[in-house]
Amino acid sequence: MRVGFLGLGIMGRSMATNLAKAGHEVAVWNRSAGKDVEGARSATSPADAAKGVEVVWMCLSDTKAVETVLFGENGVEQSLTSGMIIADSSTISYSATLRFAERVKSRGVDYVDAPMTGSKIAAEGGSLIFMVGGDEAVLARLQPLFDAMGKQVFHMGETSKGQATKLAMNLQIAMIFEGFAEAVTLAAKLGVDVEKLLPLIQASMVRSGVVEYKAPFILKRDFSPNFPLRLMLKDIRLALAAAKESRVRLPGLEAVEEVYDVAAEEGHQDLDYAATLTLLEKWAGVEVKAAAK
Ligand code: NAP
Repeated sequence: MRVGFLGLGIMGRSMATNLAKAGHEVAVWNRSAGKDVEGARSATSPADAAKGVEVVWMCLSDTKAVETVLFGENGVEQSLTSGMIIADSSTISYSATLRFAERVKSRGVDYVDAPMTGSKIAAEGGSLIFMVGGDEAVLARLQPLFDAMGKQVFHMGETSKGQATKLAMNLQIAMIFEGFAEAVTLAAKLGVDVEKLLPLIQASMVRSGVVEYKAPFILKRDFSPNFPLRLMLKDIRLALAAAKESRVRLPGLEAVEEVYDVAAEEGHQDLDYAATLTLLEKWAGVEVKAAAK
């Protein structure tokens, strides 16, 4: 298929690479110069990347970025033609998604929100899991692209239901990690060896995929970004905004937001969200690490 891919960040670059590797005709664009993808044409603007393609696929930071790329100067909107599909794998506001979809619909363009789960490693390996909102028939047309980038697609309902689902998913990741980080901080302060604690966690009903994925990085004190703290904070805020709009109270997530706020203020925003642990450690005056052998 002919695809215009917008956003070559941590996730997007690997996704576009996998599309090109699978034989699709890909044009890529990134805001900052100097990022390209082997086997893909480097476009000069979002409008250029979208020219003549069947599908525009976006993987951008946030709602503002998506709005700018679609409707800003030299935006995708200039190149829209009837029958095109816009697919968005960024995690953004579900209500803004509905507005964007409505605006392009008048041009005969379908809009699919396709946020994903799986970190940098899943993007590289083409094993992302997509949660998608949109028309069944439109999704079927996108299947070859989903196949190139991911291993599973969950159709959650009409446009915007993918974003709504993603907020519910990341709410859990943030809170499960916070529970784990608070537990290991307390355990370390009380003198428990974290290397003995980890197998117990994973042998019991406390086990989780979040712990399985993050624990090795914590033991190595490797907080380089797989999923940057600033993006998790964005998702926490999106979930809290959606909760406010729909009159839902999320007191636990409100407390976690404060931890992320302070961690970002202390300069950890570009580290992995696992770096929120370092804040708990600072408050406790302890460091969670493997016991010296
Ligand atoms: P990232 O590395 O920060 O990349 C963000 C991309 O958005 C970059 O290409 C950046 O361009 C572009 N961008 C930001 N603001 C822009 C603007 N105003 N106009 C145009 N382009 C703009 O982020 P990522 O980790 O790839 O994540 C991308 C999306 O996927 C986010 O919504 C994130 O929440 C979601 N997600 C990430 C993960 C993960 O593990 N990383 C997992 C699931 C979902 P520059 O290069 O110019 O900065």
